[in-house]
Amino acid sequence: MTYASWWSDSSRRRTNVRTLADLHLHSKVSDGIQAPGRLVAMAASMDLGGIALTDHDTLDGLPEFMTADGPAWLVRVPGVEISTYYRGRETHILGYFVPEHAKNLKKQLLYLEESRKKRFPKMLRKLNDLGITIAQDDIEPVLRGVKAPGRPHLARVLVMKGIVKDYAEAFDTYLGEGKPAYVQRDMMDTKEAIALLRHESAVPVLAHPLTMGIDNLRGVLTDLREAGLQGVEVKYIYDHVHISSNGEQVQEAARGLQLIETGGSDHHGDDSRCILGEVTVPLEIVDALKQASEDLGGEPAHAWARA
Ligand SMILES: [Zn+2]
Ligand SMILES: [Zn+2]
Repeated sequence: MTYASWWSDSSRRRTNVRTLADLHLHSKVSDGIQAPGRLVAMAASMDLGGIALTDHDTLDGLPEFMTADGPAWLVRVPGVEISTYYRGRETHILGYFVPEHAKNLKKQLLYLEESRKKRFPKMLRKLNDLGITIAQDDIEPVLRGVKAPGRPHLARVLVMKGIVKDYAEAFDTYLGEGKPAYVQRDMMDTKEAIALLRHESAVPVLAHPLTMGIDNLRGVLTDLREAGLQGVEVKYIYDHVHISSNGEQVQEAARGLQLIETGGSDHHGDDSRCILGEVTVPLEIVDALKQASEDLGGEPAHAWARA
């Protein structure tokens, strides 16, 4: 390959990459590993065109995420992932373009945080009853700076202590729904979360719908759409829950419902999911989400950057 052709090829690739967005990332403020600002730096070094921070049930990482140093071409979407219940099933709702002062949303999330905090010691007690003693010293390094301690943190402790070999085994054996150390927690009703997000002019999107384990996805999407759902996460890798999908099934179920089709890696920074940039959608999806937020009465997202 000549130098000139290599150059044009690599710069074309570069431009291509900058047109892609990963819209599902977690930072250490919920159950990821990296700080929000670190995610910005990582995305910039990968030449991604856009990223969204969607920490579980907290907005606390957003100020750092939106104001951290980074290139102007990298579009940052302030987001959240809310844990909800839909007909008895855990259902995650992503919210995109969360405004800086989302008062009602913050209040609700604070309530959930309290309930999550109570859940963690309950799981520890259950593990203790199973003969697995976890000392405060084991937990502290994992929970340092963490606002919303949850099962992934506990899974990491179990791996670190050598009780299980990996994250998947921790869930399959102890922490998954119906397993001996599982504790159910308080969650918002799915439709309530959708209404709350819309009230804050954040765009509600159904996350990884195949984890719901439902047969009638079309029916669920139709029902949630009537409740105000505006998008569905079509591109997602389900390896960690042993489901193989290329997104077609979800796309098929969503056909004609006029839902914005999003996607992302669900990066946590450990071996539990895909990593940053592995699952992306065209940057136009960010434009569509932004437009939807503005239609809900939202402020332009760049208002964040001036904070
Ligand atoms: Zn999720
Ligand atoms: Zn997630």
